[in-house]
Amino acid sequence: LPYKHDMDGAESQVVYLSLGSNLGDRGEHLRRAVQALRKEIRINAVSRIYETTAVGVVDQPAFLNIAVSGETALPPEELLRFVKGIEHAVGRRPTFRWGPRVVDIDILLYGDRCLETEDLTVPHVEMAGRAFVLVPLAEIAPDVVHPGLGEPVAALAARVAGRESVRAAGPLLDSPEQVR
Ligand code: ATP
Ligand code: CA
Ligand code: CA
Repeated sequence: LPYKHDMDGAESQVVYLSLGSNLGDRGEHLRRAVQALRKEIRINAVSRIYETTAVGVVDQPAFLNIAVSGETALPPEELLRFVKGIEHAVGRRPTFRWGPRVVDIDILLYGDRCLETEDLTVPHVEMAGRAFVLVPLAEIAPDVVHPGLGEPVAALAARVAGRESVRAAGPLLDSPEQVR
């Protein structure tokens, strides 16, 4: 098993998350979310910021998206609760499905686990079809294999890259002036 042991001896897993925002100061919302993630996740990598025209419900502002990788000792369900708490703390309030949001945090991969409970499916069900998820993820984890599909992220990204208009909008999360 791909468990690692941190200094307290607790088991930790490598996780990959997708973050998006399309309301208000989008870059600032992503920055605050990543900062909050650090409480339970040792961040290994943060992608550049990508801007994507909204897909699905198209009559809404463009999204900024990033991918983040890190190590956490939280079990999957607790990780979901943790990220949902951050969404709320940063300012997300319920709207309609796929509507505009201050911040969305999805769990893409949790180690090489495949799991499905009432409120959590990992790998994220839609990730293989979403350029706005795969393009940022491929930047930080091209060789990581999707445990359900048996294919590396770079291959999945290449297949969908042209489908949506996903463009690099800023080099670094801590260079906010580049994305405003
Ligand atoms: P989508 O899942 O298509 O990206 P969304 O992110 O807009 O849609 P939300 O309203 O943020 O959907 O979340 C709806 C529910 O999805 C959450 O309450 C959570 O229980 C569930 N869910 C299932 N799998 C995951 C996952 N891998 N990461 C985050 N949430 C998940
Ligand atoms: Ca989502
Ligand atoms: Ca979500």
